[in-house]
Amino acid sequence: MSNKKYVIALDQGTTSSRAVLVDRAGTMVDAVQRPFTQLYPKPGWVEHNPQEILFSQLGSLAELVARHNLSPDDIAGIGIDNQRETTIVWDPSTGQPIANAIVWQCRRTAQLVQELCGDPAIAERIRAKTGLLPDAYFSASKIRWLLDNVSGARERAEAGELLFGTVDAYLVWVLTGGLVHATDPTNACRTMLYNIHENCWDEELLELFGVPASMMPEVRPSSGSFGETSYPGVPAGVPICGVAGDQQSSLFGQCCFAPGQAKNTYGTGCFLLMHTGGDAIASANKLVTTIAASAPGVGHTEYALEGSVFVGGAVIQWLRDELGLIRTAAESETLAREVPDTGGVYVVPAFTGLGAPWWEADARGTICGITRGTNRSHLVRAGLESIAYQVCDLVRAMEADAGRAIEVLNVDGGASANDLLMQFQADVSRRTLHRPQNVETTALGAAYLAGLACGYWSGTDELRALRDSDDVFEPQMDAVRAEELLAGWDSAVRRTIA
Ligand code: ADP
Repeated sequence: MSNKKYVIALDQGTTSSRAVLVDRAGTMVDAVQRPFTQLYPKPGWVEHNPQEILFSQLGSLAELVARHNLSPDDIAGIGIDNQRETTIVWDPSTGQPIANAIVWQCRRTAQLVQELCGDPAIAERIRAKTGLLPDAYFSASKIRWLLDNVSGARERAEAGELLFGTVDAYLVWVLTGGLVHATDPTNACRTMLYNIHENCWDEELLELFGVPASMMPEVRPSSGSFGETSYPGVPAGVPICGVAGDQQSSLFGQCCFAPGQAKNTYGTGCFLLMHTGGDAIASANKLVTTIAASAPGVGHTEYALEGSVFVGGAVIQWLRDELGLIRTAAESETLAREVPDTGGVYVVPAFTGLGAPWWEADARGTICGITRGTNRSHLVRAGLESIAYQVCDLVRAMEADAGRAIEVLNVDGGASANDLLMQFQADVSRRTLHRPQNVETTALGAAYLAGLACGYWSGTDELRALRDSDDVFEPQMDAVRAEELLAGWDSAVRRTIA
């Protein structure tokens, strides 16, 4: 057992990088956060400067180390969780990226994906191998774009002179002084180039996307060795021993280690993941199959079903910024409590189409059921409820795919602070919600993965025992009423599909 004082999580998100200090009790002792620039060079394009990601991450780590006067002897290990799919290609001889990172949200390769994967037979092969529905979101077409569009990139890649990585791999490579070029299965499986059943980069898909195998990182277990730190200004010789994509990290941080355990994160969007053990369940409802982060010693690949809501907490931002109905996100709860219900009003925030289980790219938002008596409290409440209805649709789809009920839905993310939303979620989905005291489960997951690998914690039983008592939301609404509301939601959603 490690007798060092802390583990550190590097929580590399889409808009900021954080360094988080976690102690043996699983308490987040401190966190330093540094935002970085979002680049929108053309409509629909999103980029990050990889150097800026790096320096925001290293800067937050350096400040955390300085604040607590940490030496390498104080730090048992470092875990990394990261924005997934975001694609970086760099030259290992100089350490320089060949271009900005193409961010997961970037749509520049939508047409390319259509050209390469439009054939239903190819789409089906991709789904069968990777668990994913072909989309520009995943890394494969982003790598292809860089090789096709950055001058000389393809020749250099084919000569073995360029490396690819999702953000975790890039950070690991830099932090280990260029010694380790590796990622973990939870990140690899979001590239659309990884065979989730055979656990390897898939030759056929690498060929389809024109990606040389020599660019690809080695895939190592999420909780295990990724080398040691060797970078100026960073405490030297600290093991990097946990890596996971943000959503799988939060599943782990919620202690969902067994089949049927699930979590939903209420952020800008919502991400629902259910652990499915050793079964890679293929969805009949347009969910994706993904690899879950495993504790050391599990001995086989563990999987999860994943579904997302595009507009979750973002609907609250819209009520605030575009409609001006509230001044702060938290005020949504106060206003919604002024009315017993929405008076039949539904907001369907299909701003960018509808995700699973509907999957209608051309759907657009609607507000329906408005009467002369509708006021802003009704509208705000309907906005909040729309988050719960969308999650409820995902829960039902996931339960149908998995053939089992989600008995407890573990919740986290910024909007999970809203008690009215959580109670309404429990009511309409007829499921019990557990909200941990620490909703920063993404960083916690990375800390746990690292801490297990380096013997800081003994195993998942010890991690479960660290969890303080949760806030629990039980369904209270009459079941008939819940069904009526859901039927109303269903018909409102259908109106958005022209
Ligand atoms: P992300 O990680 O996606 O940036 P966060 O987990 O920080 O998101 O959550 C922020 C989102 O949660 C925002 O969309 C915000 O509107 C919403 N939010 C924050 N607090 C509340 C609240 N009390 N009620 C409803 N929504 C909230």
